[in-house]
Order: sequence, then structure tokens, then C-alpha cells
Amino acid sequence: MVNKNIIFLGMPGSGKGTVSANLEKKTNIVQISTGDIFREEIKNKTKLGIEIQKIVESGSYVPDNITNEIVKNKIFALEKENKKFILDGFPRTIHQAQFLDGLNFNNYVVIYLSIDADVVIKRLSERFFCPKCKRTYNLSSFRSKKHPYCEIDETQLIQRADDQPEAVKKRLDVYENQTKPLIDFYKDKNKLFTIDSNRNIDLIIKDILDIIID
Ligand SMILES: [Zn+2]
Repeated sequence: MVNKNIIFLGMPGSGKGTVSANLEKKTNIVQISTGDIFREEIKNKTKLGIEIQKIVESGSYVPDNITNEIVKNKIFALEKENKKFILDGFPRTIHQAQFLDGLNFNNYVVIYLSIDADVVIKRLSERFFCPKCKRTYNLSSFRSKKHPYCEIDETQLIQRADDQPEAVKKRLDVYENQTKPLIDFYKDKNKLFTIDSNRNIDLIIKDILDIIID
């Protein structure tokens, strides 16, 4: 039985998405994505949704107080159902981490997926994108059967500008600077587990299951 919630920290390309999907499949843990919740609120035209839509349309980021509120509601709802969850993309700042702490939210571990920059650069440089149907392919793990064309609509595949090596390096630097304080914050609380994400996915999953299952 999974008996701990997870907070995920990791660079873009460190495999958080794949690892989360895998854990959801293998256990009854649920992923909480703030982006998904925003979209749901907007779609349902809730009071909050309407507010979020205005902010997003103006090109601004959704402020902490709104994001915090949404995460809080979702966590309380899942705890009522006795479900364990993965937080991905939250907290992004110390301010948000302190908010989480204030909720008496203790039953969690922080999993930091650590990965070498050149591995990320390789992973992201293998990513190809169909501008028509928006599908994402990967040369090693999900290659288009008609590469370099989309296997659905035969459109020529492209690489996203921010997946180019120079752009990736920049993203990694930004990420590291932003996340470093969170890593230290959770290390001080003895909540941090660093997982080597340069390895095969099965090994990564096994290590995480050892941490969250009793
Ligand atoms: Zn396509």
C-alpha cells in the first residue's frame, strides 16, 4: 500500500511525466497537476475559473494565492477519499512550500529526479513534434513509423525551438536556480530523496516504490 504522498522536483526532461504516469498505472496514487486543474476550472466556468481565464488571457502567471487555494482544495478532497497523490509543478517557490507546511501536510516525501545536463539535452533533442495534430514523438522511445513525417497525417515533423541544445542549457540553468532553494528547504526537513534519473525507468520506479510503500 502506498502510504506517502509525493512532491516531485526535477528538471524539464528529467522524466517526471513518464515516472508519474508509471506510478499511476502501478499503484492507486493520483497526480495533481495545477495546469490541469486550471483548465478544468475554466471549462466549468466556476468563479475561480473565470478569474483564472482573465489572468491567463492577459498573459500573466496565476498568482500564488489562487494556486495555493486550488492545491489546498484538491489535497483536502483527495485526503477525504483516502487517496495518496503526486504533486508535480507545485511548490515552485519557498512561499508555496511554506503554505503547504501551514496545512499540517506532513505525510509526504520529496523526490528529486537528478539528471545530467547532457542526458537531458540528448533526450530533448530526440523529441519531434507534429505542427498539425500536435503529437510529440521521440526517436528512441516513440518514433514515428513514417519519420521524419507524422504517422497520422504525414506532416513534416519539427523540433521545438526550446528543445534545441542552447535553449535547453538555458532552461536547465533557470530551473536549477529556481529549484535550489526548494531542495535545501526539504533537505533541512529530512524530506528529500534524490533519485538518479539517468538510469532506466524501471530502476527509477523501483527506488520510488521502495520509499512510498510500507
Ligand atoms: Zn500529425
